[in-house]
Amino acid sequence: MAPKSRKKKAHAKTLTCYCNVCPEESVDNEKCETRPGGSCFASVRGIYNSTTNEYDVEYEYGCMPPEQSGGLLQCRGSLYLAGQNIKCCDSGEFCNQNMELEFQAPSTTPSPSDTQQIDQFSYNQLALLLSLGVCAILFLIIVLVVLVTYRRRETKRKQVCLLESGHSSHLSPLNDLFEQSSGSGSGLPLLVQRTIAKQIQLEKSVGRGRYGEVWLAKWREEPVAVKVFFTTEEASWFRETEIYQTVLMRHENILGFIAADISGTGSYTRMFLITDYHENGSLHDYLQMHVISPRSLQELAHSLTAGLAHLHMEIFSKPGKPAISHRDIKSRNILVKRNGQCAIADFGLAVKYNSELDEIHIAPNTRVGTRRYMAPEVLDESLNPTQFESFKLADIYSVGLVFWEMARRCVTTIPGTKSTACEDYALPYHDMVPSDPSFEDMYDVVCTQKIRPPIPERWQDEEILQVLSKIMVECWHPKPTARLTALRIKKSLSKIQTDGSGHIV
Ligand code: ADP
Ligand code: MG
Repeated sequence: MAPKSRKKKAHAKTLTCYCNVCPEESVDNEKCETRPGGSCFASVRGIYNSTTNEYDVEYEYGCMPPEQSGGLLQCRGSLYLAGQNIKCCDSGEFCNQNMELEFQAPSTTPSPSDTQQIDQFSYNQLALLLSLGVCAILFLIIVLVVLVTYRRRETKRKQVCLLESGHSSHLSPLNDLFEQSSGSGSGLPLLVQRTIAKQIQLEKSVGRGRYGEVWLAKWREEPVAVKVFFTTEEASWFRETEIYQTVLMRHENILGFIAADISGTGSYTRMFLITDYHENGSLHDYLQMHVISPRSLQELAHSLTAGLAHLHMEIFSKPGKPAISHRDIKSRNILVKRNGQCAIADFGLAVKYNSELDEIHIAPNTRVGTRRYMAPEVLDESLNPTQFESFKLADIYSVGLVFWEMARRCVTTIPGTKSTACEDYALPYHDMVPSDPSFEDMYDVVCTQKIRPPIPERWQDEEILQVLSKIMVECWHPKPTARLTALRIKKSLSKIQTDGSGHIV
């Protein structure tokens, strides 16, 4: 302990030093007095002279403040600090006067063209500032990258949540998706549709129409139907997609739309439409393979008109739904659901109507309906395309023919016997026109000869068949305005009650 305190004492005294950088009061006598604990210093530095391209050497002598004020610190770490060689001493009075100092020029010599005197110290300051600036920019970039990555992850997580939510629920993933995106009721967000389309695996072809091939496919283990449009049928894809995306279009008796996607460039375009899959296939296929009970007939006919009534109806809420006419109603464009109800499909020819704007929106599409099911006014071209009602009435004509196809397959008991009867499956006018009838063939039968499908006697033995046969006759009335509306038919059919066994009660 003792030597330490002695040292402290020794440093605490003042010292007289030689100076040429003197405090004002001692300029004349070239000596300065340090503060207690201070030291004397001698320094040498070079100042660059751009004219001679050499360093002018300058010597400085003086008093250094004590260590606590930064003085001795400078002395300690000062060797060639900033191109200045400083030495300090506190060994006695004027100890700095005969100190040996040598000057070493910095390794980088400023360019001769440089007219300003730049010392090493300002280089270091500049470098420090520059590195601080670079650090700040780097820091900002890192913060930005982190923010952008975080935001992207969040968006992705939300989408994945939307797509994945089905796993935690007893409902199917698709059901959940639709529940979550209730919004405007016009289908899933386009991004989600695209994602679904990318995750589809086609399994087997289940049907083929004029405009595309329909496949059974899987989306996350869930069966879905994928209509792959023929490459020339872009207009049909566009129209059908547009109709399915119509606000408030979803209905239990309209095929459930899931997603649409178009991809590819140049000459080859892939167009998909993804919908609910119905294993029973089309009504046409179903009736060929099954006979149906009166109760099933009522269910099929009633649900078909419920779907059509929804389609035809204009809803005036905000957002509202335009009235839509299908224009290609036939048994091949109607699907049979597992619960025995119909779902209307294939909207590639549909037209929309908005009464407020009095605007009929017909797609710029060369497609025409199916000749066999064409109403007389379509065949004789008397249909007024500026009147939306006329499209709805043409739909009703076709529905009448579909009722006829259904009714033939409805099994009834022959009165007084235990035997049952039904007709074979047949297309309307099957015995009147060839398999792919021309306009002329149909015009001749429907308009000229005014022939309609025959109503068998036995249909009078069963209430639903009786009611339905009256309805179909009204549906295919030659005068469009005399036909029933979908809503009217729906009401008539819902009045018929059946017991559980399939008998009308
Ligand atoms: P196109 O526009 O080419 O006529 P459709 O949409 O009418 O195509 O479909 C053609 C056929 O594919 C239908 O008649 C039916 O047999 C079958 N099909 C269509 N959609 C489905 C579906 N969602 N589930 C099962 N089968 C379907
Ligand atoms: Mg079709």
